[in-house]
Amino acid sequence: MCLLREVKSMDLYDIIIIGAGPAGLTAALYALRANKKVLVLEAKIYGGQIVNASKIENYPAIPCISGFEFANRLYEQVKNMGMELKFETVVRVDENKVVTTAGGNTYQAKAVIIATGAEKRKLHIPGEEEYVGKGVSYCATCDGNFYKKKIVAVVGGGNTALEDAIYLTDLASKVYVIHRRDSFRGEERLYDELKAKENVEFIMNSHVKKIDGTEIVESIEIEDNDGKINHLSINGLFIAVGQEPKNEIFANIIHVNKAGYIESEDGIHTNIPGIYVAGDTREKMLRQLATAVGDGANAATMAIKEMQE
Ligand code: NAP
Repeated sequence: MCLLREVKSMDLYDIIIIGAGPAGLTAALYALRANKKVLVLEAKIYGGQIVNASKIENYPAIPCISGFEFANRLYEQVKNMGMELKFETVVRVDENKVVTTAGGNTYQAKAVIIATGAEKRKLHIPGEEEYVGKGVSYCATCDGNFYKKKIVAVVGGGNTALEDAIYLTDLASKVYVIHRRDSFRGEERLYDELKAKENVEFIMNSHVKKIDGTEIVESIEIEDNDGKINHLSINGLFIAVGQEPKNEIFANIIHVNKAGYIESEDGIHTNIPGIYVAGDTREKMLRQLATAVGDGANAATMAIKEMQE
């Protein structure tokens, strides 16, 4: 009897796009319009972080839309063009543009576009992990409803923290905003809108040291920049302290900067020929929806151009 080794065949594509956020889906849109064979691989849900935005007001020609609706519209648009989307977690990409997923599947393409976005940054304080879903949240629009007429705190000083706090003031009885500096990084316009709310209180120059509770969150310990400790009774803590890329799986071949973002001199190419980058996961000045979709369009167009040369 002879033993035959099972050889899994490898699916071949023109372009494999890793990540189905706005950058990845826009790259797919451009590639499909150029009649390329495209595979989009996504580890979680399509839409990326924008699905958490309660409203988007700075996307050209769309005065106001929820992040969820924007993601759905984009998904439908690309799906109707024949997008092949597989929900698989990529664990490896090599120089030959062979992409391996957690299930052991391998796919090969002429070009790969990395559009993996970024994830919510953690505070890494005692109680944070323990109370996720029990009072600790990273998404005000997803979880805000659980805190109707309750007391919540938002940590952070960027646009997300300000928008989350504005959203929560309409639900919670009281919203504390805790920020480590004396001024906000987020837009003045948002700060003005927030400070006009009656049920908001700002705790500046302070950081959250610890989250306490029993079954659920009951209080937090805050330390100000002079070392003074305070305790605050709250029901929910919304952490909005920015994002971090998740590029460890590419770091064996792709150059990343100290913060983990993929380096790219022109905002399109990585250091490996045929592997491109788009969206929040790359080193860039402005991480917004408008820049993410621009990145996706550029990366796909460059990939198509260079595979034809
Ligand atoms: P961000 O702009 O990076 O702000 C993060 C905030 O968290 C900063 O205020 C930072 O403080 C603070 N922070 C970081 N690490 C911390 C820690 N360990 N402990 C306490 N505080 C910490 O992040 P973001 O607000 O999520 O926004 C990300 C990007 O999306 C930005 O480009 C933003 O403009 C964009 N965005 C845009 C909109 C919109 O246009 N409507 C909405 C949401 C997000 P420091 O200020 O002291 O550094």
